[in-house]
Amino acid sequence: MSRIFHRNPRQNMPVAVGGKGLELIDQQGKSYIDACGGAAVSCLGHGHPRVLAAIHKQVDALAYAHTSFFTTEPAEELAAMLTAAAPGTLNHVYFVSGGSEAVEAGLKLARQYHVEAGQPQRKYFIARRQSYHGNTLGALAIGGNAWRREAFLPLLIEAHHVAPCYAYRDRLEGESDRQYVQRLADELEQKILALGAENVAAFVAETVVGATAGAVPPVADYFRRMRAVCDKYGVLLMLDEVMSGMGRTGYLFACEEDGITPDIVMIAKGLGAGYQAIGAMLCTDRIYDTILAGSGFFQHGHTYIGHATACAAALAVQQTIRDEDLLSNVRERGEQLRAVLRERFADHPYVGDIRGRGLFVGVELVADRVSKQPFDPALKTHAKVKAQAMQNGVLVYPMGGTIDGRLGDHILLAPPFISSAADIDEIVNRLGPAVDAATGFV
Ligand code: PMP
Repeated sequence: MSRIFHRNPRQNMPVAVGGKGLELIDQQGKSYIDACGGAAVSCLGHGHPRVLAAIHKQVDALAYAHTSFFTTEPAEELAAMLTAAAPGTLNHVYFVSGGSEAVEAGLKLARQYHVEAGQPQRKYFIARRQSYHGNTLGALAIGGNAWRREAFLPLLIEAHHVAPCYAYRDRLEGESDRQYVQRLADELEQKILALGAENVAAFVAETVVGATAGAVPPVADYFRRMRAVCDKYGVLLMLDEVMSGMGRTGYLFACEEDGITPDIVMIAKGLGAGYQAIGAMLCTDRIYDTILAGSGFFQHGHTYIGHATACAAALAVQQTIRDEDLLSNVRERGEQLRAVLRERFADHPYVGDIRGRGLFVGVELVADRVSKQPFDPALKTHAKVKAQAMQNGVLVYPMGGTIDGRLGDHILLAPPFISSAADIDEIVNRLGPAVDAATGFV
């Protein structure tokens, strides 16, 4: 029996009691390298002194003040910092408590924008299969993960799906990146036309796919083409950077690398680095101004929006990333991590693909490297890797189960931005034997 509902009663969970830098320590005194930061959360590692000091200072002064009465210095400063760094005119930020809340806020904002812009018939969202946008009802509705949605289908808003950009499995033999992107752009355009372009509110995508497919970056020009299709039909582009944003890919906003600006972007995990629960949604001048000139008020709100302590923690996290130039380290260590993984698994018959951007790296496991046939889901290969890796003293984030009968098991690596070259080598040293053992490769 477990009194904590979110704890798996079948699993014998260690009790986490401490952490410093990359290291996490359990009650037995065992130490783990945290190579995934939970689900790509702990981007500064554990126990970061600057963040802890900022939290202490804020709590001592004022832990919380309701946003209908007051604003606070850390919220204002964090908003200024994020909007200055964001591309284009993403000049307005709405602070929430996590990723799903950021996505919900984004969906509602897109809808309200169209209503106030005189197009109230725009209500459909188009997202992608093999996507994860959160577990609240709106986020679940647009997500592409069938098993997560199944029990709740009657409760979900109508959403439509197109193919993700997933070159490893979906680019056809002999197809160039350009041709592949054209095919995906055509599919989006056809979907918009089928729904009636005047009825579509937004296209939503993860800039780099996280949990459902393991750090899958788009091919060159994918988002530029998607942006063009959206613009042609007055459809908003919403990017979910809850996992990939805030430096994880080596850019503060992952879409900077794709050379585009979305209308709305959602961020969370790396924003507060796990020190406090915080997420955010940013939107462009056009959306903000339309609402301001219309009803004047975004019909939304939660008790903890703009939480002072959460903002103080996130501000210290973001200042640390900036002051220590950690984005350069993310790019360098990311290159190294992919190179070391490719070397370690070069002849491994069950490692199908190694991919990612920055310190956001996926390893896809397959039963057959040539045919890319996934492992039988019943084997739970990903869970075996996680367990074996934990035994070896390294934490990696596993995902498995087929989607559309194809995507198999993968492991997500998301080490902290402060990782050294030696840390990266040690992560692979500990992970390698775990993958061998879990896949039965000796
Ligand atoms: N979007 C993406 C891309 C995510 O990876 C996640 C969390 N894994 C969410 C949304 C939901 O965030 P949260 O769990 O903080 O609600």
